[in-house]
Amino acid sequence: MANIISGKVVSAQVKDRVRQETLALKEQGVEIGLAVIIVGNNQASRVYVDGKKRDCEEVGFVSREYALAEDTTQCELIALVEKLNADDSIHGILVQLPLPSQIDEKAVINTISPKKDVDAFHAENVGNIMIGDYSFLPCTPAGVMELIHSTGVDVCGKNCVVIGRSNIVGKPMAMLLLHENGTVTICHSKTQNLKDICKNADILVAAVGRAKFVTVDMVKEGAVVIDVGMNRNEEGKLCGDVDFDEVSKVAGYITPVPGGVGLMTRAMLMVNTLNAAKMFYNIK
Ligand code: NAP
Repeated sequence: MANIISGKVVSAQVKDRVRQETLALKEQGVEIGLAVIIVGNNQASRVYVDGKKRDCEEVGFVSREYALAEDTTQCELIALVEKLNADDSIHGILVQLPLPSQIDEKAVINTISPKKDVDAFHAENVGNIMIGDYSFLPCTPAGVMELIHSTGVDVCGKNCVVIGRSNIVGKPMAMLLLHENGTVTICHSKTQNLKDICKNADILVAAVGRAKFVTVDMVKEGAVVIDVGMNRNEEGKLCGDVDFDEVSKVAGYITPVPGGVGLMTRAMLMVNTLNAAKMFYNIK
């Protein structure tokens, strides 16, 4: 049976490190602020934003929420982002996605100052990740790397397979594995022989968005299996992309859903906000 990689344990360790550093900075008079903007009434977004608010309280940040109406215009949203860019008490700005259809997400994201872009979605930060010279890493892939590190498995030289090529998960995930000298294959909906490619993976990361997509016949014995997926099963329960019950019989390590990557995504947002504040105050 696979070892379970606990997002609960690893995220608590990460947040504890952030909390201790934040406390030490507070003693020097430094207060860290995260602004979260939510537009409209998306229920899932509301749950995520509430979770981020709780995390801020836990680590000792000041969190400021801006809840805007569904019919907010792009100009109004951009004006708010520009105001927050110039606000010295705010070190990180997060615009919760998705945005209503009248707003161009790319235009809004690229208005956030790259120095406050704690989601690391701004084109400048994305480019910096490509060249391996970055201030922020996107939260989900960075959280996955923490989970892999917690196993003690060295990425260097391993066959790493990422299923999914989205800009927020799959592509940066592949890049982070590559930066640690993994031999990386990215799979997507047009990939041929997906099963054979996955079966060869020492480290398999699934970011597809389909329940039970990764079946036991796709997994190498002893592999590290990371499940990024967040889906609902027939009973409406949260589940990942991996057939956990079967795959855990052959994998060496596996993340559960819930209790895996999702918690790490939240913890890494706290890390990025701390780093943004340290950059602002020029603290090493
Ligand atoms: P996305 O933008 O929809 O991308 C899904 C990817 O899966 C695409 O690249 C797609 O390929 C690929 N795909 C779809 N069907 C496939 C198939 N039959 N074979 C191989 N590849 C296939 O989704 P995302 O934003 O990356 O998110 C992926 C999952 O992770 C979702 O469940 C999402 O909710 C979850 N998620 C979780 C967290 C977290 O914190 N845990 C954070 C972000 C996302 P094409 O490019 O060819 O279409």
